[in-house]
Amino acid sequence: MIKLYDTRLRQKVDFEPVEPGKVAMYVCGPTVYNRIHIGNARTFISFDMIRRYLSWRGFEVTFVQNVTDVDDKIIKRAGEEDRTAAEVAEEYTRLFIEDMRAAGVQDPDIRPKATEEIDTMIALIERLIERGHAYAAEGDVYFDVRSYPGYGQLSGRDVDEAESGHRELRADGQGLEDRKRDELDFALWKGAKPGEPAWESPWGAGRPGWHIECSAMSEKYLGLPFDIHGGGADLVFPHHENERAQSECACDSTFANYWMHSGMLQIANAETGETEKMSKSLNNFLLLHEVLEQVRPAALRMLMLQSHYRSPLVFGEQRVNEADAALTRIENAVRALDWLLEAGTPRGEAALAPETAEGELSAVLDAAALTDRVAVLRANFAEAMDDDFNAPAALGEIFSFVSDVNALVADATCLSAEEAAAGRAARDAIVELMDVLGIDVTAAEARAAYPVEVVALAAEIWPAMTATTPRLPWLTCWRPAPPPARRRTGPWPTACATAWPPSASPSRTPPRAPA
Ligand SMILES: [Zn+2]
Repeated sequence: MIKLYDTRLRQKVDFEPVEPGKVAMYVCGPTVYNRIHIGNARTFISFDMIRRYLSWRGFEVTFVQNVTDVDDKIIKRAGEEDRTAAEVAEEYTRLFIEDMRAAGVQDPDIRPKATEEIDTMIALIERLIERGHAYAAEGDVYFDVRSYPGYGQLSGRDVDEAESGHRELRADGQGLEDRKRDELDFALWKGAKPGEPAWESPWGAGRPGWHIECSAMSEKYLGLPFDIHGGGADLVFPHHENERAQSECACDSTFANYWMHSGMLQIANAETGETEKMSKSLNNFLLLHEVLEQVRPAALRMLMLQSHYRSPLVFGEQRVNEADAALTRIENAVRALDWLLEAGTPRGEAALAPETAEGELSAVLDAAALTDRVAVLRANFAEAMDDDFNAPAALGEIFSFVSDVNALVADATCLSAEEAAAGRAARDAIVELMDVLGIDVTAAEARAAYPVEVVALAAEIWPAMTATTPRLPWLTCWRPAPPPARRRTGPWPTACATAWPPSASPSRTPPRAPA
């Protein structure tokens, strides 16, 4: 049974989907007025990991993520750049999709755009007016917050606290307070101002408020109630509180059965060593695409998954390097197993060098122990992830497995069929479980864990080496075995800096026989 932390209930609860075997998920997408920053990326990577795990656990997941392509910020940017809001939105939608793919985030199953769903939103607003939960005022429409007794339950605020939240919002310049009946109320529809994008509606030309978008799109594509509503922790109030109020008032149904929120991202100040909020004023504002010019995507994801998705995450150069080294360690374990399996002409058959007696070969790979260890890994991984998607604990299981496998195969040379099968199962388990977390440890860039020039040099000097060096017993299979495993010392992740084997050391790089 999967347990997840539900923001509304403030505790971990058993996850039971509306329809057995299926999961309907909605995660709020970006407002497309700029490239996304790594704080946004953390949210999207977290929910990508959750989605991948649910799929791996056998659920058929439907994942919906909207694009907010009409908004004050987009209109402001368009004005500054002397182009239309639609042009700004189109450019940053395209770049958002590019950035997400570069970060290894899977495309949603459905990606509705606000501007293409205006009729759905108008219909929802009309329903709210009919039911007495909303009212029109001079071309705007407002939601009557006091008409919904459940308001504040999600964010854990009482109505008076919530009120101060709305005051902050108005200070951002919405300028709508005069028409409201109550300070708490928020806009569902905003009457058109000159020069702004506008659509016809029963209340005159205008555009939808931000919150109504997600209520309309999630209901349209998933139906109510759906299973999981997700987003960054900064969206709990007012955005998600308002979405919930709108949808539950319009539908006499629970909106989302579970609310999940990812934690905030902070920046490690390289000079002071202190952590600080990411902000333009502190000059530490990091856009995802800029970070990905310096950091390979898999290492960024590794860093993000090393903290629990709900915990604050500290981003900094040293942490990135540690995450990269930790990832390299897993990649190298997979490569070492690949080498061993490639070398694996079955022991005792034709490939044995005639001058070497079969009896001199000592196979030390304990196939039974390795097979058992793979089963333990799979069970522990699932147990960690079932517990509110605890990726750091799941990664810890993989690291511990890598250490054990390195030791188990350390002295193995040529493999029997049974040993090769056990080695294959170990290798495949690492690859598969890392893939569940969204990291391909067999990717072309993973192979760069050994610099390409080192591999090329090894291939070049190999004929000379074999011509001048007496054949050693471990070369019996005509291909080299990997270097002996170095047991890590100290607890993970501090040991991550000493990745095995050292990635830049040519002397430890097993040369590959030319084809
Ligand atoms: Zn939303």
